[in-house]
Formats: sequence, C-alpha cells, structure tokens
Amino acid sequence: VSTCSADQHVAVIAFPFATHPGLLLRLARRLAAAAPTVTFSFISTAKSNASLFSVPSPDNIRPCSVSDGIPEGYVFSGKPQEDIDLFLKVAPEELGRCLAGREDEILKFIPGFRTVRLGDLPAGVLFGNLGSSFSTMLHKMGQSLHRAAAVPVNAFEELEPEITKDLKSKLTKVLNIGPFNLTSPPPSSNSDEYGCIPWLDTHHAKSVAYIGFGTVATPPPNELAALAEALEASDTPFLWSLKDSFKVHLPEGFLERMGKNGKIVPWAPQVHVLAHGSIGVFINHCGWNSVLESIAAGVPVIGRPFFGDHHLDSWMVENEWKIGVRIEGGVFTKNGTMRALEQVMSGKKGHYLREQVMLYKELAHKAVGPNGSSTKNFKALLEVITGDND
Ligand code: UDP
Repeated sequence: VSTCSADQHVAVIAFPFATHPGLLLRLARRLAAAAPTVTFSFISTAKSNASLFSVPSPDNIRPCSVSDGIPEGYVFSGKPQEDIDLFLKVAPEELGRCLAGREDEILKFIPGFRTVRLGDLPAGVLFGNLGSSFSTMLHKMGQSLHRAAAVPVNAFEELEPEITKDLKSKLTKVLNIGPFNLTSPPPSSNSDEYGCIPWLDTHHAKSVAYIGFGTVATPPPNELAALAEALEASDTPFLWSLKDSFKVHLPEGFLERMGKNGKIVPWAPQVHVLAHGSIGVFINHCGWNSVLESIAAGVPVIGRPFFGDHHLDSWMVENEWKIGVRIEGGVFTKNGTMRALEQVMSGKKGHYLREQVMLYKELAHKAVGPNGSSTKNFKALLEVITGDND
C-alpha cells in the first residue's frame, strides 16, 4: 500500500492470485469504512476485480483494473506458476499506467521539494516505464548507495541545504564538492573555434540570449521555428549552439535576416560564454550542468525541460531559487517565448531574478573558496580515498 498525495488517496495493489486479492479487499473495506474521507484505489486484474466487486463496496473504494498479461488465444502449457509469470512480465508497466495521469499532484514527502508535482519527477522513478533497464539501474543504485563510504555530489551545500540534510541522514558522508565548472573549469585556450567570444565582445552588457540544450536534447522542429520567430520579433541578439543539421527547421530566410544580431554555432565554449558580460539570459533544457554553469556565472534562465532531471531542475530554478522561469505550457511558442524574454531581460521580475542568481553566484564562489564548504568536503573525500585522517 502506498500513499502519494496530500488529498489522501491510497493505492491498494493486490497480488492477483489465489486468496490474496479477496483478503486485501476485506482489509481495504474495513479501512475505507473507518476513514470515509480517504479514497482507496484497489488495483488488481480485470478478472479478479469483476468477481470481487460483484458485491457492493463503500463509495470510497474504486476498482482499478490492469491486464493479466495473458496474450489473446494463449494456450497454457501447464508449467507451474505460468499465470504468475505472465502477469509479472506486464506488471511494472500496467501498474505504472494505473498510478500515472496524476502529474499535477503535489508531493510533500521529499524534504526539500515541498511543492513539487508528481509530473516533475524523472520518469521511471514513480511513474512511466518502471521496468526499463534505466529505471532498474536507478532503483538498484538507490538501494545500494547507503553502502558507499562517501557520496560526492556536483553541487554545493548552500544551494540545497534541506536536500543535503536529508541525504546526510540517510547516507554516509554526502559531500557536495561542486560546482565542478568552478573547481575544474574547461581549458580556456583554443576552445572557441567558432569565434563566440569576439562576437560577444561587440554586444552591450546583458543584452544577448545564449541558447543551448546540452548534448542530447533538441526541441522539435516547430519549437525551433517558434523560438527563432520570437528572437526575431523581439529583436533580441542571440548566440545559439545548434547543430548544422537542425538549421533546416528555422524559418525561411531567418539565417540571412539575422545578420549581426545573431550567431549560430555547432558548439560553444559554454562556461566561457556564460561568464561573458554581454549575456543577459540562458535559454536551456535545465540539464544539471547547464543550470550550475548559469548559477556560477550569475545568468538567469528560461527553461524548457525535456526528460530525466530537467523537470526537477527547472522546478528548483523557478520555485526554490527563483533564478528563472519555465517556458509557459512547457513548449516554445512565439508569444510565450517573447513574454519569457521580456520578463527575464527587463522589468521588475527580471531585476529580481538577476538579484537572486547573483546571490547564488556569490554562494557558489564562496563554497569553492579557501574555507568554503565544497573545499572542506573535497578534503574529506580525499581522506576517505587515501585513508589519511591527519
Ligand atoms: N556544452 C558546451 N557547449 C555547447 C553545448 C554544451 O560546452 O555548445 C556543455 C555545457 O557547458 C555542459 C554540458 O555540455 O557542461 C551539457 O550538460 P548538461 O547537464 O547541461 O546537459 P546534457 O548534455 O547532460 O543533457
């Protein structure tokens, strides 16, 4: 039995064989009668639910049916537990489907993420395909982490004090030793093969939007076009890290019209670009490195999260650190992007976001300084590795 919500909704998951579902439903009925304000979803196979719910149940118990995994026309060979094997093969996905569709539910049980939505967690942790190899790897990692002698993290304590405190209570030596882009910056020499820095030198302070979605994500063609239209219509100077093969999706004539106002490169020396005084905003996917690099450079963010940690990171950016905004509706539209640009680049809100990100920038630089938390944690990590406690 797991609860997942502040509005007291309990998922009761039956093992749908032999007497198990019947007994579990009897317990659920007792609980439902004693707790009439709580909703119980009783999850079992269609066949099992059809027979169990043929007698009346309290209104606050709802049957929720999942597949038994038996393919159509399947002929049982008589192997022991054949029906259980078939069910268990489809169970992770089926149960995931039953527990999904609740993206807007607020989770309150993860310290540090007080108002995060279920839909902001990475897929494969509480919803989505829980049976994929990636999910299985994450779950196994979660189960084994407490055996690690130290858990070094690419963050700094002042950024996520509550999360750090919670992790420290569960694991041995949780050591925030980042941001790595400050402790071990990429080499500044010969990395600017497309001339980004000299181009930025020709622009006014805080006037340029830097756009980059990391090494994996790219917005779909219609969103690339919408983003380009918004840049053009708002007359925002921009530097865009975009692979050549995606340029075909930009509006017709865009590349010719952008002139000196825009520069598109297949790769930008991002850390050095963000540190350039001309950058006013970083439009990104909220990948962890990009977020940390933006913080370390004191640049506010417009986030368009795609998958994995992006949603959670963008939630922190917008709601916890208040150093940026997520794009309206989660996708680039011309008007939504223009509004986001205006919000972040000018006006009261932009001023506030910049103040916030500058505060975190200062904390990040302090953390990696001589007596900073990340520096101390790095020494502690070194002690674990060398076995030297002096
Ligand atoms: N990066 C870069 N230049 C580019 C694009 C990306 O230097 O043109 C670097 C960026 O500085 C960051 C990393 O690639 O360190 C991307 O990491 P992130 O976690 O943001 O996204 P991922 O690629 O893991 O999705």
